[in-house]
Amino acid sequence: MLLQVERVASFYGDFQALFGISIDVAPGQAVAVIGANGAGKSTLLRSIAGLMPSRRDAIVFDGAPIGDLPAYAVAARGIALVPEGRGLFPSLTVEENLLIGGQLGRPGPWSLQRIYDLFPALAERRKMPAPSLSGGQQQMVAIGRALMANPKLLLCDEISLGLAPIVVREIYARLPSILAEGLSLVIVEQDIVQALKAVQQGVKQSLGPVQLSAGQLVDPSEDGVAVALPLAQDAQHQDRGQEERPAGRELRRHAGS
Ligand code: ATP
Repeated sequence: MLLQVERVASFYGDFQALFGISIDVAPGQAVAVIGANGAGKSTLLRSIAGLMPSRRDAIVFDGAPIGDLPAYAVAARGIALVPEGRGLFPSLTVEENLLIGGQLGRPGPWSLQRIYDLFPALAERRKMPAPSLSGGQQQMVAIGRALMANPKLLLCDEISLGLAPIVVREIYARLPSILAEGLSLVIVEQDIVQALKAVQQGVKQSLGPVQLSAGQLVDPSEDGVAVALPLAQDAQHQDRGQEERPAGRELRRHAGS
């Protein structure tokens, strides 16, 4: 496994946001994390990225425990986050934002030119201030900036948020090219259909009927998986232990529908 998250718990002060969530991500795999507003999807990604402290061995990446590492050390090991809301540097141009992503100097296939090949709209606007771009183009910058770090694992937090469906489709259509470079992907979305389609695109095959149990991994094929995050009250039950974990609210979807 490239990433193993084992019963991670995360807190904002006294408030517990994650109650023992576990997911695994294999090399080259796309995983969709699905959950309602407030279920803890962003918190899970922030925990993996080192923006929130966790138990040292709750998160193992590339064979090493990283749960207690700060974000810069996690990034240096090859995990890049596309944060919810994009988090671009507003005073910088498109190209300057992209170059910041490459500051770690990790070797790999991604360069400015490769990002511009992936998102040609950015090449034309490379010298423009990032805030002057459309929402979809800004999201491309955020993804490009993360790729410039040449990560082994890319974490995408609700990249469809606030974007028109046609723009979302355009961005998601680039995911197979990104996966083709061999990195792994964790996609967080509120929209189940969008997320499952993204996983399906990533593995280029039908997932067939998918059953999602709260907080549990579902592996309908060898390549694509989805995990549903429970709302907090369900999660509290889950924290009592693996054996007592309730079946949870089950969601059934067909990935191709
Ligand atoms: P959304 O789709 O709204 O982003 P989410 O599934 O990503 O939802 P999180 O943002 O991870 O959910 O939030 C999980 C819980 O933690 C929520 O109850 C939220 O109110 C709480 N929370 C998030 N950020 C903070 C914070 N900075 N301080 C305190 N509580 C927070």
